[in-house]
Amino acid sequence: MAAVRLEDLRKEFDRGEIVAVDDLSLEIDDGEFVTVVGPSGCGKTTTLRMIAGLEEATSGSIRIGDEDVTGIGARKRDIAMVFQNYALYPHKTVFQNMEFGLRMSTKLSKAERREKVEWAASMMGIEGLLEDRPDELSGGQKQRVALGRAIVREPSVFLFDEPLSNLDAKLRTTMRAEIQRLQTELGITSIYVTHDQEEAMTMGDRIVILRDGRLQQEGAPTDVYENPTNRFVGGFVGSPSMNFVEVEALPDGEVLRLESTGGRFSYGLTKAYAVPLSEISAGRYTLGVRPEDVFLADRPGHDTVDATVEVVEPVGSDNYLYLDIADDFIARVEAGQKPSVGSRVTVTFDEESVRLFDAETGETVTGSPAVVPAP
Ligand code: ADP
Ligand code: MG
Repeated sequence: MAAVRLEDLRKEFDRGEIVAVDDLSLEIDDGEFVTVVGPSGCGKTTTLRMIAGLEEATSGSIRIGDEDVTGIGARKRDIAMVFQNYALYPHKTVFQNMEFGLRMSTKLSKAERREKVEWAASMMGIEGLLEDRPDELSGGQKQRVALGRAIVREPSVFLFDEPLSNLDAKLRTTMRAEIQRLQTELGITSIYVTHDQEEAMTMGDRIVILRDGRLQQEGAPTDVYENPTNRFVGGFVGSPSMNFVEVEALPDGEVLRLESTGGRFSYGLTKAYAVPLSEISAGRYTLGVRPEDVFLADRPGHDTVDATVEVVEPVGSDNYLYLDIADDFIARVEAGQKPSVGSRVTVTFDEESVRLFDAETGETVTGSPAVVPAP
């Protein structure tokens, strides 16, 4: 087991035309489970490949435990990686697939290797498959074998590159839980890459969000959800996504008046999440409000916004109401609240949950209680 530390890690392709990873610094504690998430092409796989030693860094450094491994080959890094496409040897049996790494990298006897493979197979519940070949297995079974092959070596670090993306939704849920159980039992430092924000949020002790090779934010899932550092993170984390409306802010004594661009509404904000309203200067902002923070009711002391219901989407315990306040503006309300399509409704916002982002840079203006304590 070991901590992993990336310092200003950079990877360029095509003589610098492509910056896949842009000076990424990150510390992962010994035994921690960190998820790394971001849209396709943001540099997740490249980051993992550099940590594994499969890709050479352009600059920056990688430490595993006490050792600087930046220039060290993959075989000497004591890392096991699990891929989306399983990467099993098709002509070897499950047993041989799992044993192969041990034969290559250890001096264990045949009997000791068998013991280890059987232990790993029992961890993954695949004892009965040891003599099968990969093409006889389902996708879920193949991924269990790939996981078994990773744990049999008892590495210092696990790297997972979208290992569940090829599985159907139900199996994915089961395997998420299995991987978490495995990680807890073995206590091995794990870096888990996915493009699926829900997977990242539910699995990680800590979530790291990348965009265009750059670190956007890292933190506990709930912190990131509640305090996105910028509009991108606000929109990326959470489903349905945070709603965004372009507004003009007009400070007016104790009230911050928000006029939606296009004149759809005027909303007087009386409370703010973190930054005192008086510190927010006049200008253009993007208002961000999560679907669960939009209420379908008149509430005393709150301004209201009138809207037309465009779509009603029942999702079991809740309804998603698409409102004409902005593009894809959704209010998440209880199943009992079901206005008809085309009807007019009045909504209010949970003001302490409303965020303002700089209209140009997208950086949060009201996001972080670390800057100013919540009132
Ligand atoms: P992700 O795993 O987040 O989808 P990748 O790390 O695979 O992203 O890719 C990051 C960026 O680097 C992308 O723009 C991708 O096209 C580019 N890239 C990755 N590998 C190579 C390569 N071998 N040669 C050139 N460009 C590459
Ligand atoms: Mg990838």
